[in-house]
Amino acid sequence: MNLNLDLKNELKNFINKKEQYTIPIFIPHKGCPNNCVFCNQKKISGQLTDVTQNDVKERIDEYLKYYDNSDKKIEVAFFGGSFTGIDIKKQIEYLEVANEYVKKGLIDGIRISTRPDYIDNNILNVMKKYNVKTIELGVQSMDDKVLDISKRGHTSDDVVQASKLIHDYGIVLGHQIMVGLPGSTIESEIYTIKECLKLKPEQLRIYPVYVIPDSELYAMYENSVYKPLSIKEAVDRCKYIIHECQKTDISIIRLGLQSTNEITAKNKELYGPVSDNLAEYVMASIVRDKIEEELKKDRSYEQDKNVIIFVSKKYVSICVGPKKINKIYFENKYNVRFTVKGG
Ligand code: SF4
Repeated sequence: MNLNLDLKNELKNFINKKEQYTIPIFIPHKGCPNNCVFCNQKKISGQLTDVTQNDVKERIDEYLKYYDNSDKKIEVAFFGGSFTGIDIKKQIEYLEVANEYVKKGLIDGIRISTRPDYIDNNILNVMKKYNVKTIELGVQSMDDKVLDISKRGHTSDDVVQASKLIHDYGIVLGHQIMVGLPGSTIESEIYTIKECLKLKPEQLRIYPVYVIPDSELYAMYENSVYKPLSIKEAVDRCKYIIHECQKTDISIIRLGLQSTNEITAKNKELYGPVSDNLAEYVMASIVRDKIEEELKKDRSYEQDKNVIIFVSKKYVSICVGPKKINKIYFENKYNVRFTVKGG
């Protein structure tokens, strides 16, 4: 049997990373008032020393050398820590360097990430002055109980106030949320995404919680107070979140932690849903549900065991799935030959 699938709606929120370049600059654990239980920012960013103005310039120059002259947008992103919590002079030093490249037309925008309780009018006036285009808030959860157990040091109300203020300043709003926080359940994560979507962020980043050495969560894990998610559980929870996102136009700009020397599936010191390609597993699972729904509607696979799925060329590998998980799933469960063809 042949099945033509569109998949545009199922995958519409995932942005194609190839459409833009990002110059990442990690400011490890700068500006944080506390240690959130799951965080060891220095291990996450793989960077242990302080960042200077000169480092920022060198990093941008280094990346610009490798970028071609295509039409892709180029963005400088200050990740890690809480950018707007660091000394204001330091913020301005970093932003001055990046803004010079914006003024020369060499980059298109500046992005920063910060805590929801570190946003106010004074901060946003500085961000506007230095052409910060996007602010990502580390929301993590909208369940105050989960925020408390995770020792975030802010409440869901801070997220609401900060999100509104960022919109008022005409700055693009991003939210970061996490699956698998201590005290969190599927229900609180669905609640979180619904509350976030009410605040109309343009972008979303979804991180699974990893148990990282030297974090408080590591001790909680060793004392059996915290049980990390499996990859399958993380995939299922992300799918619930994405189903909510599909009702809106929000862009999912990242799903899963970025691999570094420290944060990689090869690192045996990490526990939890550690995967270098969680997003591919989640997308493959969403597509698998769709294919299964269609197979059950049109049961002709019961006679014709040759199931051929026709999709746009760009979706072929997602349909097959990483390590061919979807192909294996359908062949085993439905006793068919499963082929995907791109057009
Ligand atoms: S605010 Fe962010 S960077 Fe700072 S400790 Fe918490 S999770 Fe880590």
